[in-house]
Order: sequence, then C-alpha cells, then structure tokens
Amino acid sequence: MMAIALIGAGLFWGPQSEVFAKRKEKTLNQRPVRVTTTKPRRPVAEMREWQPSAQPVHPSATKVETWNVYNACMGSDDPLGKSAEFFASDRKISVLKKILGKWPLDTPARFASELCAVDALKHYETLLDITSAPKDELVSVDHPWVGQNDDLVRDQRYVASPWVRDYIRQLANRTFEELRDRADGAPTLPLFVVSSLVRSKDIQRKQWNSPARCETENALCSSHTTGSTFDITLKDLSGEHNAALKKILARDRESGKISFILEPRGNHYHIFVFPPELAARVAEFAAQHP
Ligand SMILES: [Zn+2]
Repeated sequence: MMAIALIGAGLFWGPQSEVFAKRKEKTLNQRPVRVTTTKPRRPVAEMREWQPSAQPVHPSATKVETWNVYNACMGSDDPLGKSAEFFASDRKISVLKKILGKWPLDTPARFASELCAVDALKHYETLLDITSAPKDELVSVDHPWVGQNDDLVRDQRYVASPWVRDYIRQLANRTFEELRDRADGAPTLPLFVVSSLVRSKDIQRKQWNSPARCETENALCSSHTTGSTFDITLKDLSGEHNAALKKILARDRESGKISFILEPRGNHYHIFVFPPELAARVAEFAAQHP
C-alpha cells in the first residue's frame, strides 16, 4: 500500500492560479530545443534475459510484495502480456458511486504491473535526453484548459508521449462536457493542473519518497521516466472538478485505457496511459473476460 501510495509522489506542487496563468501563457509560446538523438530502445532479447535482483532494494513487506510481482512479471516469457492480463482482470470498479465516497485500495500488484509494462520502453536518462528527444517522440501537451506546474515549464518537461498528450486533451474535453452538463455556463478554467509529465532518471533519483527511483540497473523505475504517465494535482482543484475527473478516470480504467491511483501523500492522481501495444493486449484479455 505504501509503495503504491508513494509512487512518483514528489516535489511537484501546484502554483498559485495567477502564477499559473502567466506560466501557461509562457508554456503555450515556448518549445524545447529539438536535437535529434539516436538512443535505441532496450531490445526485447535483453528484456527476456532479465534476472531478478537477489535482494530487494526496499526491505518493507509491501515493497517485497511489489518486487515479487514485478520479478514474476519480468521473468515470464511475455512481460507485456502478463501486465496486460493484470490490468484487464483488475480494471473493474464495480459501482462508480463508491469511488466518489470510498476509494478502492491500490495494490502492490498494480504498481508492479505498471513498472513491468513500461520496462521495454525507452527511459530518459537526463534532462538533456528529454529536451533533445525527437520531436515526434515527446510532444507538448498544449491545451487551453489544462494547466502545468512551474517545474515543468522551468525545466522544459512539459512534454510526454503522443498517446499521453492525446489522452490529456481528450480528458480535458470530456471534463469540460461533464461539468458543463452539471451547471449553467462554462466551467471554471483551468479544468485541472498537470503537476508532472516525463521525468529523467536523474530527476527520479531525487524523488526521496518514491519507491521507484531507478537506483540501479534492475531497480524499480518509475513509468514517468518513459513519458507514459502524468500527474494531476488536487491542490486548488474544486470538489466539482474533482468529482468530474474521478468519474471519467474510473470509466477509462474500466474500459482498459489507463491505470490510475490516488496518491494521498502527493495529493495527486497518478495516471498511467497505456501505450498502444499494451492497450491492444489489455483489450484482448478484456474481451475474453468481459
Ligand atoms: Zn506520478
């Protein structure tokens, strides 16, 4: 539980709304410098030869459980399929009403499956790797209704994988519609503030309270370092906006598009958007077990 609660939790807190508005304006007009690099993805063969560490880096019981699930997933013949099977079988939140009252507990298996699912993706080592990534690899998440934290603007980390950008934009549009249907007039903007997108491994290692700090070659390593995850801060998020978001996120978890958790300490939603290959595999399993 603690491991789940801590995933990616960190140092990104929402700015004041006035500051945010200025930053957003700046964000919309600013782009990272793009320099093509040729950093290869980790080959599949290497992934299959991966061997579990003899000792868990984190000795607590929860973290050991996370390690056990992660090791089993990574040690299988088909890590992506293994994680897809988990997300398909554990996607249901039976009654949405419950979500608005009592939040379902996250599990070490959910955390471990997320890390297993992204293991074969490219992980960005440094901030330079992020700012110099090919322009179609990490893309800006510009949307007039979505805010971004100061950290992201300052470090030019307001980018993510294309499928994450697409999801955030859809989420904003659907949240707008959800709120508009509930009240007269247009919803208050921004609809939500993204407090984290892609992080380099260097930055992740400074996340002192994260269990996925990429400390060694085989250590747990946050999905943020692949650009496939983003956080939405709950700071300054109205109850109405929060309820609308939760409802949509829950639907998307049930339909096999995302995995998301509420991080109590970080006070934000951590949302892992399934990469296309994983989404396809989840759909296969979900079709077998509707
Ligand atoms: Zn996160």
